Amino acid sequence: MSMNGGRERLVVIGGDAAGMSAASQARRLRGPDELEIVAFERGHFTSYSACGIPYWVGGDVEERDRLIARSPEEHRAREIDLRMRTEVMEIDVAGKRVRARDVDSGAESWTSYDRLVIGTGARPIRPDMPGADAPGVHGVQTLDDGQALLDTLARTRGRRAVVVGAGYIGVEMAEAMINRGYRVTVVNRGSEPMSTLDPDMGRLVHKAMQGLGITMVNDTEVTEVRTGEDGRVRAVATPDAEYPADVVVLGIGVRPETRLAAAAGLPLGGRGGLLTDLAMRVRGHEDIWAGGDCVEVLNLVSGQEQYIPLGTHANKHGQVIGTNVGGGYATFPGVVGTAVSKVCDLEIARTGLREKDALRAGLRFETVTIESTSRAGYYPGASPMTVKMLAERRTGRLLGVQIVGREGAGKRVDIAAVALTAEMTVEQMTALDLGYAPPFSPVWDPVLVAARKAATKVRAF
Ligand SMILES: Cc1cc2nc3c(=O)[nH]c(=O)nc-3n(C[C@H](O)[C@H](O)[C@H](O)COP(=O)(O)OP(=O)(O)OC[C@H]3O[C@@H](n4cnc5c(N)ncnc54)[C@H](O)[C@@H]3O)c2cc1C
Repeated sequence: MSMNGGRERLVVIGGDAAGMSAASQARRLRGPDELEIVAFERGHFTSYSACGIPYWVGGDVEERDRLIARSPEEHRAREIDLRMRTEVMEIDVAGKRVRARDVDSGAESWTSYDRLVIGTGARPIRPDMPGADAPGVHGVQTLDDGQALLDTLARTRGRRAVVVGAGYIGVEMAEAMINRGYRVTVVNRGSEPMSTLDPDMGRLVHKAMQGLGITMVNDTEVTEVRTGEDGRVRAVATPDAEYPADVVVLGIGVRPETRLAAAAGLPLGGRGGLLTDLAMRVRGHEDIWAGGDCVEVLNLVSGQEQYIPLGTHANKHGQVIGTNVGGGYATFPGVVGTAVSKVCDLEIARTGLREKDALRAGLRFETVTIESTSRAGYYPGASPMTVKMLAERRTGRLLGVQIVGREGAGKRVDIAAVALTAEMTVEQMTALDLGYAPPFSPVWDPVLVAARKAATKVRAF
């Protein structure tokens, strides 16, 4: 029963995609007379698109505010009591309350809840090395980070950038820095960029990045950021080389921000993310929900829990949580592992399992890789595309697809994402009734060409 004069109180920790989607959806379903909503955000912004930061820094998106879907004032107008610059320091599960601290004044107070939503997101991994905090070294996790980087770019005369990390944020930031007129070096720990792809597909990305004038340094780690007499970054050092840098951008991944949850004794998985049921309720806790970058998700193809921090999931989680908290019913069954990104005109996409994921899951599989084009070969603008496909032995079930190509390559992965969700075999995929006209694809779409080849290979077993 509510402690709030008949009205229930929902407390939300985290004011971005997961937290505010949950709050907004709950508000749609239940009015302020039934449900009080209090949301805490320690930063300066709400409901913003971190996904847009590379395009804002690169200049494709002109203004920061274009990345803000809903401001604090807009949330408040919908009767969400949003407390900005207020950090939740503790969750008291037994007492059903949270302790929050005003970041600027330091004042602390307890707020009780009937239901709690945890949407604390992720925190970036910062390398533990000399110079990591030197002026000129930037992360790109928040809008404040993006602004700080842009301020540095405006002040910096030199035009050499080093990007540390070659995951999707690293490659997107490489593009941003090229667009800003920088000579870009990407330093990467893996054997190829984009470790979410198999290395043979990552190799294609590597070659294309070199073709764009990006210096790609693989198989090494940054050990130090070296500074000049002015204290600012001057170079990045690896065990065997030094790369001059006027600015350094860090994109080496994130970890779930679950320190509060861990201290409160809530259940965490192997990757440190909160564990939930299909309704996004924290396992074993009737009144606590969690979503977004702070949770682990079920991979529907492998049947294993995974940590995949993406905005697309955070928004869906928030919608599901808000529906359930608001008295409706919704579930988030899991993901198939779809992601798309680009570096300049090179599009990179993946869904399902890589070879190593399939092996880890104990699956036996066949792989095929085909070359095709984005349009009919004779149609102007047709560009090459490589599609790799994994299918399970014997059953022929589709297990994964990776695509590297130019315009029109990336979003083709959605065909495979649907096929994975529907648990289709590659044989079934060959008959998919996809749209065809010469400006859009060859008569056999590249995904279908791969499916045909995979079906033939699987049949041999
Ligand atoms: C550069 C970049 C590019 C990206 N591109 C893509 C993309 O193309 N596609 C895609 O799907 N995803 C992308 N993402 C990922 C996407 O932005 C995240 O998955 C998404 O923001 C997660 O939303 P969230 O609400 O779970 O967490 P967050 O966005 O991290 O929000 C969590 C919020 O909680 C607040 N908070 C944390 N702890 C507390 C506390 N104790 N008290 C109060 N407030 C707290 C934080 O300040 C933060 O605002 C990108 C991310 C980055 C950084």
